[in-house]
Amino acid sequence: MSVLMIFLDGVGIGKNDPASNPFSKFPSPFFPAFDDSKKINLPEGGFLIPTDATMGMPGIPQSATGQTALLTGLPSAQIIGRHHPGFPTASLRKLLLTESIFLQLEKIGKKATFANAFTAEYFERRDRQISATTWAVKASGFPFRWLDPDLINGQAISHDLSNQFLRDLGYEAPVRQPEEAAKILASISKNVDYCLFEYFLTDMIGHSQDMRHAKIELDKLNRFLNTILNKIDLEKDIVLLTSDHGNFENLSIATHTRNQVPTIIWGDDNGYFENKITEIQDVPNAIFEYIQSDS
Ligand SMILES: [Zn+2]
Repeated sequence: MSVLMIFLDGVGIGKNDPASNPFSKFPSPFFPAFDDSKKINLPEGGFLIPTDATMGMPGIPQSATGQTALLTGLPSAQIIGRHHPGFPTASLRKLLLTESIFLQLEKIGKKATFANAFTAEYFERRDRQISATTWAVKASGFPFRWLDPDLINGQAISHDLSNQFLRDLGYEAPVRQPEEAAKILASISKNVDYCLFEYFLTDMIGHSQDMRHAKIELDKLNRFLNTILNKIDLEKDIVLLTSDHGNFENLSIATHTRNQVPTIIWGDDNGYFENKITEIQDVPNAIFEYIQSDS
């Protein structure tokens, strides 16, 4: 069995208001929930756990702390005393380097991988400009996947699915359809116990309040998720989608929100997770325990 974690940055559960919420204006089978929804039906027997992203702290939830919680199982904003945006601080990096789910799985002899492709230039950045997901992998001995050769050979995907962002930066990368990226991700995930994929255009669109761009990315995500659920064997594997904080679901403001985030779990075994997740930091703990139980 394996767990594929699809991390969408900045996706919350908002109001059913087409003027502000792309999920209301452009209905998606994968994101049917609003803050007043009673009964939700998701494709392929998925179930939704509305998940608290605030870690019990005042203020607006932010990426560095939210992602650290999703990757360590720790209430990172409580630990450092505030929500922290962008990239992890030294104290958050310390949490990631000692408690990352990649390291925890490695210690019990399981295999984990990050499916996103990296460029060598990315690692020339300063420590404080490197993402939480990257630190979580660096904590372990699991290798990164690279643009050349992994992405080019169909062994990694780009955060935007299409590789357009790499092409815009001047790299040679094939243009991919969301279905092709999904097939590659499904095949990577099958060979490990835990596979992470990170997608952050949702958060960028939330900040830019761009409804037209929101439709383009939501269409891509719908096609991507549709293929993922067809290509993953849900009789034995789990697909878990989650987020670090709200943003995309309310384009009337340029900031993140305190809304709950959708944790959606697919797979015959998804009942395992039902009562184990209420806050974002519960997500990696439930995944770790689930993978550990298979030995
Ligand atoms: Zn953001």
